[in-house]
Amino acid sequence: MEKKKNILTGIRPTGKLHLGHYFGAIINWTKLQDKYNTYIELADVQALTDNFHNPEKVRESVREVAIDLLSSGIDPKKSTIFVQSMIPEIAELTVFYSNMVTIARLYRNPTVKVEIKQKKNLFGKEGESVTYGFLGYPVSQAADITALEGELVPVGEDQLPLIEQCREIVRKFNSIYGQTLKEPQAYLSETPRIKGLDGNEKMGKSLNNAIFLSDNREIVSKKIMGAITDTNKIRKNDPGNPDNCMVYYYHNLVNKENLKTVNKECRAGSRGCVDCKKELIESMMNFLKPIQEKRKYYEEHSEIVDEILKTGTEKARIKAKEVMNRVRKNMMIDYFD
Ligand code: ATP
Ligand code: MG
Repeated sequence: MEKKKNILTGIRPTGKLHLGHYFGAIINWTKLQDKYNTYIELADVQALTDNFHNPEKVRESVREVAIDLLSSGIDPKKSTIFVQSMIPEIAELTVFYSNMVTIARLYRNPTVKVEIKQKKNLFGKEGESVTYGFLGYPVSQAADITALEGELVPVGEDQLPLIEQCREIVRKFNSIYGQTLKEPQAYLSETPRIKGLDGNEKMGKSLNNAIFLSDNREIVSKKIMGAITDTNKIRKNDPGNPDNCMVYYYHNLVNKENLKTVNKECRAGSRGCVDCKKELIESMMNFLKPIQEKRKYYEEHSEIVDEILKTGTEKARIKAKEVMNRVRKNMMIDYFD
């Protein structure tokens, strides 16, 4: 039988997970875990690059994200969930790889460029808020991937430059020290980018436009009641255009059975926005129910979550140690055991 390929994917523990994570990433991972040897990294080291002043948030989010993953279909028997900072080999590799990447190359990385621009918006002048650690995160990501011998890395189009940079590092390393590291491939996922309640192109943790998987009925109701609808539909019986409506957009995610009716009635002016929102709230709660039931179970059995993280991290560490031993040997820094 052919050996299963390794998949490495990750998530930054910077808050609870939302619909964007679910439809944009987790659904895909639940399929991949059936076919591949799947590692899911809780990237706390990376989260700390721009949250170093907020260790409580990162610490708490590791547990919350783990619970969200387990509640939404990630099976710890199939996927290895591990905590990045507990694998010191990743940090070691980052140090050695950083010699193989120029600062100019990091600044040219399109993904990094975009993120630097976003930082500028948050903190004012471009450049001033860019730390050494942040600029180097593609290097640290190359260490994540290669430490676990990730062969396929599921990414969106916008993250392709990170994989390309990792491949460059691997090739350079292997050409200098001999064949040591596996060169990964990007695995382009066709998952959609989920929009926010405010119509923003991305639902984001910090954008205040997300429905979290753990939101209760009261919060969900409030958020949906405030969602953007077609601004030309003013009165209840005005015909509307579902294409300009966030409520319709989410019907399409969680109320597929009734989607055609919603569309038809909206266009015909026979469906008021308030009723349409109420129907969405019901569908959303039905969708969230099984996830939240599982969440409750894991909240009440936190020892199970701890055990899953511990076992996953131990398993990942065995792989990372193997790789690190090879690296030490080939770099001639294996002085003693
Ligand atoms: P942060 O602001 O901390 O970067 P994030 O919301 O971007 O948080 P990440 O941990 O960076 O979340 O991303 C985890 C995964 O979830 C990635 O694969 C990312 O592309 C995906 N993801 C996050 N938000 C969305 C969204 N709105 N639509 C689709 N996919 C998303
Ligand atoms: Mg992100």
